Amino acid sequence: MSQPSSDHAQDHTDVPSDPALRVKALESLLVEKGLVDPDALDVLVDTYENRVGPRNGAQVVARAWVDPAYKQRLLDDGTEAMAEFGYSGGQGEKLTVVENTSSVHNVIVCTLCSCYPWPVLGLPPTWYKSAAFRSRTVIDPRGVLSELGLELPKDIEVRVWDSNAASRYFVLPERPDGTDSMSEAGLAALVTRDAMIGVAKVASPTAGGVS
Ligand code: FE
Repeated sequence: MSQPSSDHAQDHTDVPSDPALRVKALESLLVEKGLVDPDALDVLVDTYENRVGPRNGAQVVARAWVDPAYKQRLLDDGTEAMAEFGYSGGQGEKLTVVENTSSVHNVIVCTLCSCYPWPVLGLPPTWYKSAAFRSRTVIDPRGVLSELGLELPKDIEVRVWDSNAASRYFVLPERPDGTDSMSEAGLAALVTRDAMIGVAKVASPTAGGVS
């Protein structure tokens, strides 16, 4: 089927959403009153759109997979080890890295609100902030993980880490099979945000392919 009226669609300017309009109105007012500097706002927006996010975390994970000394530093002091990459600052302080192994699976949550390691994961996804995820993950982590598509064997110990403003967590996922010959950059490309929250595993590059 063809897309109806594509020319028409191109002529349109969509009306911004209500929250977008309200944010714009607030921004205009704050700038007009001299309360915020528009350049400073641009820097903030650029930071959260382009400079912080899960690709940062993925680089940290890949380094830990290929460099045992780095991995040890990461587990000893996550904040310091991530700062080696220049990943630091707001919401990245007091960062503890928890390692997934063949016997332990870690998942992070913030039961109170939405604390999350911004410098290495970006802004939290909507479901992370949802009341259901926040409350149920501590009560029934296996059930929540199963609903999110991650079935864990019974003999795997599940550890739930409740973040707060003073202490945030980051999951170091297990390196998948079939990656022995991969470069650090290639490994980083496999690592997903959800794996660093602990609601997924990093898939083997051969999974689903020809074995
Ligand atoms: Fe919080």
